[in-house]
Amino acid sequence: MKGVFSYAGFFNFKDHNHHIMHLLNRIVLLVSFVCSAAVQAQSVDSIFIRQLADEILLHSQAYENLRVLTKSIGPRLAGSSGMVKAETWGLAAMQKAGADKAWKQACMVPHWERGGIDKATTLANLNADKNGFALDVVALGNSIGSGPKGISAEVLEVKSFEELELKKEQVKGKIVFYNYPFNATFVRTFQAYGDASKYRGQGPSQAAKYGAVGTIIRSMSHGANNHPHTGSTRYDSLYAKIPAVAIGLEHADLLSQWLQKQTVQIRLETHGYFLPDTIGHNIIGELTGTQYPDQIITVGGHLDSWDNCEGAHDDGAGCVQTIEMLRAFKAIGYQPKHTIRFVLFANEENGLRGGTKYAEEAKVKNEKHIFALESDAGGFTPRGFGFSMNELQYQRVLSWQPLIAPYGCSEFSKGGGGADIGPLNKNFNTPVAGLQPDSQRYFDYHHARNDVFEAVNKRELELGAVNMAALLYLVDRYGLGQ
Ligand SMILES: [Zn+2]
Repeated sequence: MKGVFSYAGFFNFKDHNHHIMHLLNRIVLLVSFVCSAAVQAQSVDSIFIRQLADEILLHSQAYENLRVLTKSIGPRLAGSSGMVKAETWGLAAMQKAGADKAWKQACMVPHWERGGIDKATTLANLNADKNGFALDVVALGNSIGSGPKGISAEVLEVKSFEELELKKEQVKGKIVFYNYPFNATFVRTFQAYGDASKYRGQGPSQAAKYGAVGTIIRSMSHGANNHPHTGSTRYDSLYAKIPAVAIGLEHADLLSQWLQKQTVQIRLETHGYFLPDTIGHNIIGELTGTQYPDQIITVGGHLDSWDNCEGAHDDGAGCVQTIEMLRAFKAIGYQPKHTIRFVLFANEENGLRGGTKYAEEAKVKNEKHIFALESDAGGFTPRGFGFSMNELQYQRVLSWQPLIAPYGCSEFSKGGGGADIGPLNKNFNTPVAGLQPDSQRYFDYHHARNDVFEAVNKRELELGAVNMAALLYLVDRYGLGQ
């Protein structure tokens, strides 16, 4: 109080009042200027994002592109003829969408072939069918064939690796049946996938370690159907490679019920094999930056799919959304400040060679990657984004939430990205993000025969592209800082 009083004593009251009023006026002016600049920036951004959204929602080619990719091309596992067709299609689609430059980036990819129809047939006459009961199974990707005679053995059920350890003395000569359920209590289904997928990845070798001759794995799903879900397995070179199949959920439950009453013998027949590595390609379309052409923003999905489905949600959706963003930016005449690369990555499913190559070439060319975004969680209603970046960058991204939320992505969370952009994040610490659509139905379709065009909703697919395009625009306009 004293200090204020003595400061006021420097002026006579009138003078002092005048000065204060003058100062206040200036402050009010300054504050209103700053506020209106912020409001203007916000309204410029919201108007632009509205325009971008309208372009996509009114004129999107994403659904039609998905129809061609899934119906005319279909399955496109690395090394297959479908892969080659998809690459040709992807390059043409990038050019048609208006890329300043479009090219194919070559990389070596593995070439695994399923080789025939996978079978698991009961040898005991369990259901009065004299020919045995055919369980609905599909061989795991990268798994070996049983040979033409198949493998006949008794089935040993375990619910977990812990139970396998307890029963290890009983494993020799058996077919180990991993009946580990997808944990239904996780609200985000990707957590259940993360929890269960170790049985698909490591299950065969863990069983082979104790002398198993084959494995049957409960599908990574809680879909209310009996479709078996494939996916990569990884053999540990220390142990024998044994045939491995995934089984549909209804038949997994049936097999488990039988095993509670009696022993069950099964004949397992698979035909998988590898051909030599071959050449695949990342397909890249670029809008070259007007101010910072050397600073790159990457967005993409993966072009490969499993061989047993059309790969509509996984990841045809991410591919056509990627092309759609390019088309929409071009259609409304947006010229990005930074270079934006739209990438259809090769071989995500059973090798990740495309994403690995993309980061390797970035290193060789000393490219500066400021942000990467991936859509590889299905073409469902967008809910949010997961971000892997530092705190300052994350705070900046959070400030954009009100601009994006009206289009569906209101849940911004830490952690996320995508398999294909993982190497950029790992090698260069590039900030990355992944689109997070509603996850409840994804594992009904993932790597199963029902992942087809008809399973994708046009509007949901387009809204995913809208939300990602909005995020790309904001990153391009404001950057992410260091
Ligand atoms: Zn995928």
